[in-house]
Amino acid sequence: MKTAPKLAQVVPAAPETLLRPEVLAMAAYHVADSRGMVKLDAMENPYPLPAGLRAELAALAADAALNRYPDPAGSRLKERLRGAMGIPAGMDLLLGNGSDEIIQVLTLAVANPGAVVMSVEPSFVMYRMLALAAGIPYVGVPLKADFTLDGEALLRAIDSHRPALLWLAYPNNPTGNLFDRGLLERIIEAVPGIVVIDEAYHAFAGSSFLPLLGRHPNLLVMRTLSKLGLAGLRLGFLAGPSAWLKQFDKLRLPYNVNVLSQVFCEAVLAHREVLDAQAAAIVEARSALASELGRMPGVTVFPSAANFLLFRVAGAPAVFAGLKARGVLIKNLSGAHHLLADCLRVTVSTPAENRLFLDALAASLDSRT
Ligand SMILES: *Cc1c(COP(=O)(O)O)cnc(C)c1O
Repeated sequence: MKTAPKLAQVVPAAPETLLRPEVLAMAAYHVADSRGMVKLDAMENPYPLPAGLRAELAALAADAALNRYPDPAGSRLKERLRGAMGIPAGMDLLLGNGSDEIIQVLTLAVANPGAVVMSVEPSFVMYRMLALAAGIPYVGVPLKADFTLDGEALLRAIDSHRPALLWLAYPNNPTGNLFDRGLLERIIEAVPGIVVIDEAYHAFAGSSFLPLLGRHPNLLVMRTLSKLGLAGLRLGFLAGPSAWLKQFDKLRLPYNVNVLSQVFCEAVLAHREVLDAQAAAIVEARSALASELGRMPGVTVFPSAANFLLFRVAGAPAVFAGLKARGVLIKNLSGAHHLLADCLRVTVSTPAENRLFLDALAASLDSRT
């Protein structure tokens, strides 16, 4: 009988010696503890679904085949999305477990040696984070001080870095504004790689690049149901020419959108008017909140086409802490980027929650030291 070969004793690796330096250097995506707080930090829709629709979802959950894998292509859900979102004929769809997953898939797909991922700064942090995680150089071109696009700087950066992938959030997060459409079209034409217009806030914006799909062969449009009211279901999608999407689809994990997310999203999208009415209420509340906020002493509110408002106030970190102490959680962006000095971001919520926020803000401004 043969004896097993004698193996050298190995010292088990520690994370610091085994893992990629990019991973070790990354900061974890931070989610603040919001238990018991008025939660205005993450652009969630504050409105529940109507009782009838919730009962319909409960019945669907009872009948769902949880013992089976989900439809890998999500075909029925895609059909529903086509109708509900007005996807132009001839364009393909790719579904993601949230649009975050789609950002990851595209980043991995372009990760050739020498490839560069680009966006503007400040913008959505996952563009940068997932590029770094994939080991791809990331170039963030600063916006102007008023958060509009610096067209000249961006076109120069495109010319020198030749990005494989450019992300532009429209409206932008965390600034809330829509970039100039004409300039965006010039940028789409100047980029040698793919340009993704991220329309996470489309429901509050009234402006979209979906109708331009197909006109620019390198243009893709990404959306999510998260800000529309279904953040817990995690569904994002990418629309664009199948020449691109069928390649990305190879990198998508086979069952990335689970059974319950598929049936629930289908059912809710059949009542798109419910989500639209909620979005309309949020848009109305946004103007009321913006004007009241703008009247507060020392507060500057930036224009928003999204379901949140960015504002600047002296001593923002202390104001943020004061709000938190009063049970209201918003987002402190002071320190996130030099253009965001003394900036805070608040989600537009119900009139009642917006009132709680404004009252807590007034008290925090008074007690600021
Ligand atoms: C919230 C947000 C996303 C992520 O959405 P999920 O679908 O929930 O992953 C993507 N892009 C922008 C600009 C966002 O603000």
